[in-house]
Amino acid sequence: MPVAVEIRELHKSYRRRLPWTSQSTTAVDGLELQVPRGEIFGLLGSNGAGKTTTIKMIAGLVVPDSGSISFPAWQGLPQLGAVLEGSRNLYWRLSVWENIAYFGELKGVYMNALRPQASELLEMFGLADKRDRPAQTLSRGMQQKLAVVLALLGEPELLLLDEPTLGLDVSSSLTIQRLLKDLVRERGLTIIVTTHQMEVAQSICRRVGIMKAGRIELEDSIDSLVDLFGRSDYLMRMTQDAFATIQPELSDYRFEQLDEPRPGQVSLRIQLADSLAIYPLLEILARHKVELSRFSQEQPTLEEIFVKVTAGRPEARP
Ligand code: ATP
Repeated sequence: MPVAVEIRELHKSYRRRLPWTSQSTTAVDGLELQVPRGEIFGLLGSNGAGKTTTIKMIAGLVVPDSGSISFPAWQGLPQLGAVLEGSRNLYWRLSVWENIAYFGELKGVYMNALRPQASELLEMFGLADKRDRPAQTLSRGMQQKLAVVLALLGEPELLLLDEPTLGLDVSSSLTIQRLLKDLVRERGLTIIVTTHQMEVAQSICRRVGIMKAGRIELEDSIDSLVDLFGRSDYLMRMTQDAFATIQPELSDYRFEQLDEPRPGQVSLRIQLADSLAIYPLLEILARHKVELSRFSQEQPTLEEIFVKVTAGRPEARP
């Protein structure tokens, strides 16, 4: 997979330019990162970890103190679209179509190319019948969709999104997540997204980088992270009778009984020393012909992984 964005030794401090203080805040502190092309990359981290500053430096809106950002997949600057936190992503008083005309013009897209592009995007994002509505009369979810539509004008190759689903209800958030996945699949877009919503990251990102105090603490595919942090815990449910039969043979296993509302049933979480230890356990179950009404491996969520990675280390650097 070609590298879309390559970041080396990136530093950024914000200085307070006041005569009586020379205080500065280190926002990004030696960041190293490679983002593959054609997938959604999640930039995660607690408040103040440096995500927005990083995204703004990639967008060329904040100038780094030192280090480099390059775009090897395009041998130059890619076409870029961005929806950034706290910036003017759409004009409230303008209608949906006027916003499109305005931002299309800013991006240098000719009207005859803009019309079909915009119509297709409005259709895709379910905004086709809102063309003449002022942006301020749209729901927050629709405004957010419009902001993404505007960022997609001019057919960018790299899309930067800062908290695209913040404050949206579940269904609007799911719609935007689905649309982002469609864009990557159908148009080969590369997306870098920041979010505090781990379930969003888990659902749309293939890889994530967890930032802490201005650098990447951990970066990997979600699948590998789940494996890496995976526990060999199994959940199983059986009848009380079956449990009574096998219990004497479980003395070598660490297990706990979970709350089980179903009468006559027992739910267990069994912790295995390693994944191979499942076989003797299955042999016990088979020998006693135990019927399991539940049998699953417990996997850590991205949220649990995030908490482990970010816990217990210093947050901000003065
Ligand atoms: P959040 O999740 O809260 O949005 P973030 O990970 O996006 O946080 P940044 O917004 O990049 O973090 O901020 C990193 C650090 O830089 C913080 O300590 C912040 O206070 C500081 N900072 C960001 N922008 C500025 C600015 N314009 N002037 C001064 N300090 C800033």
